[in-house]
Amino acid sequence: MKAVVKEKKGYDNIIYKEVPVPVISEDEVLVKVMATGICGSDLHIFHDVFPYWPPVILGHEFAGIIVEKGRNITRFEIGDRVTSEPQQKVCGVCRFCRAGKPHLCSSKRSPGWGIDGAMAEYIKISDCQLHKIPDSVSFTEGAVIEPASTVTHAVIERGNIKVNDFVVVTGAGAIGLIAAQIAKACGARRIAITGLDIDEEYRLKVAKELKIDFVLNVQKESLKDLVMRNTEDFGADIVIECSGSESAFNDAIEILAKNGRLVGLGLSGKESINIKWDKAVQKEIEIIPSMSSTFSSWKHTISLLNENKLDLGKIISDVMPLSQYRKAFEKIEKKQGLKIVLVPDKEYN
Ligand SMILES: [Zn+2]
Ligand SMILES: [Zn+2]
Repeated sequence: MKAVVKEKKGYDNIIYKEVPVPVISEDEVLVKVMATGICGSDLHIFHDVFPYWPPVILGHEFAGIIVEKGRNITRFEIGDRVTSEPQQKVCGVCRFCRAGKPHLCSSKRSPGWGIDGAMAEYIKISDCQLHKIPDSVSFTEGAVIEPASTVTHAVIERGNIKVNDFVVVTGAGAIGLIAAQIAKACGARRIAITGLDIDEEYRLKVAKELKIDFVLNVQKESLKDLVMRNTEDFGADIVIECSGSESAFNDAIEILAKNGRLVGLGLSGKESINIKWDKAVQKEIEIIPSMSSTFSSWKHTISLLNENKLDLGKIISDVMPLSQYRKAFEKIEKKQGLKIVLVPDKEYN
């Protein structure tokens, strides 16, 4: 089969090549991949700034069809349309695994960096973290369930969003646009989403199409004015920071109400950043980082999809053949479009 493989450590070293179809054990299924999303972490691996164990097939956001199953698999059938949580090879016995938080297990090895991933025609995966995709959800949308679940984890489980919250989402990329939709589904009063000049052409337009209450280019308009005007000068109840930028963190501290919550799911890509700590202390702001997803957050995401409260199709800007992964990576580097999904060439038409 064809696959996108990170061959060895270092910058780039990624090639599209022929590799053997994986052989499953009795506790695994073989999934014919129909769509794989490209994640920021795939680009970090390209740039050699994320942990990985080469040679390894990239990609952890996928959807496909079960074509073969091990004899211990009882909950799934051949032909099932599925996607999978990424936490594989977890130990099952540490305090985090036992508390239902395998995403924090130190032994975790996810597809795409720790074990072979889904930028390929087939992937083998253990059944314990598989989920069926709702019939109404396409394979390309199904490939976005994983990143969407990192957002439900952040917004619902970590951020504890409440009915009537005034919400600000900083960053109008795929994650930010999903976060705004989830906040709305959870009963937020009003939601503002921010972007930059570079986002005007595409991302802020999608935000408007999604009917987010306030869509704002912070290089042209004042976020603080907007928030204060709409909150009787108290400030926002919750900021969902999806950009990882230092200035966005500091803006968040400025515009949050006292006792506000700052949920951070964007990585800065730096060793450290400067934040207005004293102001955060004076306002008793809760700073809540969030990472990856949990079983319960996947359940939330799939149920929001079933109820038509989450539109993942709108988040997908491009569907490209797998062999064109380099072109897709370049688009992402230039911040063009939103989520790009790759489809194995044989399935692409
Ligand atoms: Zn991802
Ligand atoms: Zn563990």
